[in-house]
Amino acid sequence: MRALYPGSFDPLTLGHLDLIERGVRLFDGLVVAVLQNPAKQPCFPLEKRLEQIRAATAHLEGVEVSSFDGLTVDVARRCGAAVILRGLRALSDFEFELQIAHTNKSLSPQMETLFLATAVHHSFLSSSVVKEVARFGGDVSHMVPSGVAADLARLFNRSSPQGRHV
Ligand code: ADP
Repeated sequence: MRALYPGSFDPLTLGHLDLIERGVRLFDGLVVAVLQNPAKQPCFPLEKRLEQIRAATAHLEGVEVSSFDGLTVDVARRCGAAVILRGLRALSDFEFELQIAHTNKSLSPQMETLFLATAVHHSFLSSSVVKEVARFGGDVSHMVPSGVAADLARLFNRSSPQGRHV
């Protein structure tokens, strides 16, 4: 059975990567789908996010990485995936994720959503937190793959990162 792991991945964090590594062990194939989220203005262009995920998952067999447009259930069907994989960090994720899962079920009754609980040590990680820390020159090397850390450093290249006077 194949699964689809959709997200914005702006950028990929070690929390996402942990989910991918565990997901690929559960399924015959896992498609990581970078989807356009109209509610979010991305920091990294689509091509860069695809490149980051491909580099970080190069050691994993059975992982495909692509970008898609449209409804997640349609993307899953096109990929031959019967399951949509999502991650849960905290209660705050649950309400939103449950609403999305129910919406997808109403659109495509055969499609199942599977939630994996975050690894405890990644439970505080989100793409937004990582960007916030990187923007102010903080160390993100324990939060993201090394390639992503380098991209963040380039993106937020600051002449004097710590304690600047504004
Ligand atoms: P979206 O814009 O679709 O929410 P994200 O890239 O923010 O995309 O997240 C994609 C999926 O990965 C979501 O299901 C989210 O809950 C999950 N996720 C994000 N961060 C973590 C983490 N640290 N641990 C486990 N799952 C996570």
